[in-house]
Amino acid sequence: MLKTHKIALAPNNVQATQFAQHCGYARVAYNHALADFKAGLDEKVWRSHIELCRRFNVIKYEQYDWCKAMSQCVSKNAIYTNLNDAVSRWKSGQNRFPKFKKRSHHKSYQADSGRGSISVVGKRIRLPKIGWVRTFETLRYLGTICKVIISKQGHRWFASILVDTFVDDPIPDPRGKPVVGVDVGIKHLAVTSEGQYFENPKALRRHERKLKRLQRQFSRKVKGSRNWYKLKDKIAKLHYRITCIRNDAHHKATTAIVKGASRIGIESLNVAGMITNHRLAKALADASLSTFLEMLKYKSERTDVKVVEADRFYPSSKTCSACGVIDSDLSLSDRTYHCSACGHTQDRDLNAAINLRTVAEGHSETQNACCFESRFIGVEIL
Ligand SMILES: [Zn+2]
Repeated sequence: MLKTHKIALAPNNVQATQFAQHCGYARVAYNHALADFKAGLDEKVWRSHIELCRRFNVIKYEQYDWCKAMSQCVSKNAIYTNLNDAVSRWKSGQNRFPKFKKRSHHKSYQADSGRGSISVVGKRIRLPKIGWVRTFETLRYLGTICKVIISKQGHRWFASILVDTFVDDPIPDPRGKPVVGVDVGIKHLAVTSEGQYFENPKALRRHERKLKRLQRQFSRKVKGSRNWYKLKDKIAKLHYRITCIRNDAHHKATTAIVKGASRIGIESLNVAGMITNHRLAKALADASLSTFLEMLKYKSERTDVKVVEADRFYPSSKTCSACGVIDSDLSLSDRTYHCSACGHTQDRDLNAAINLRTVAEGHSETQNACCFESRFIGVEIL
């Protein structure tokens, strides 16, 4: 089983500079080979990644003599993996034609030279040309290291380590665990039919004022000046912090939900449609609900828990969980669901979660819900 562990690194100043140089080398190799590939297309010659790499190797010590101090697997990986992937995605019609990488682009490079070429011992990782670098954690999985990608996020360097584990995880016994419906939203990140509430950290909103202030200061600085770079780093650091807060809440909630369920019912989100509502757009982006559901899905898959997705037009918030009547007058501000037919009163999110559980149990006639008018989709999940 392939698993990735992303570990924060604690390089010294020399090593951090070497990381940045290697990222630069990967970018140069990628751009050179891409230019070469483009030139080939103009001459009606198709150059494969092997050919491109060979041609780059011929000229690299003359044109880029500084690269002698770098690990040479970096340029090979940039052409063999990154450029080759980009070209094949373009060839199959999946993506547009690859672009040149900018200096300001996300910094990363692939450091390994194949399976088992990099070793991790305790809280240290050994990278080609750079040597032993301290890490913040020990590697979580036992197995062969297949791939190591070094990248920078905010002010911090990371190593994403792909491990081929020796043993697969034991699949937990689903017996005795309930079927769980999960309703996601802005007020609460997730509410389960078991009555569990997971708070939405509203990471962006908490730091919005600080971020705005920094951005305002940044706009007044002379581009390229020392203070300009200082503020740029500060902003990147704050963005990184916001992402961390969000990810932490997502991971904790999804793990807790998957651990306590034998089957999960969720709604299918139309986020693109919802984001057109300007008043909600920012709050929705802050909660990043689709990432949450994706996380829930891959974690369920790992532990063999089935995920049932309700039909896109299924009115999970507007249906009464007691008698099944649909109340189309329910507005976004109604936090409590009150059924006019049977008098059932319940928290709005909990009511929706119970409906989604019913879908997962396979009792609800979701196909009938298709005729439900599409004007409700936008607000359905909230
Ligand atoms: Zn009812």
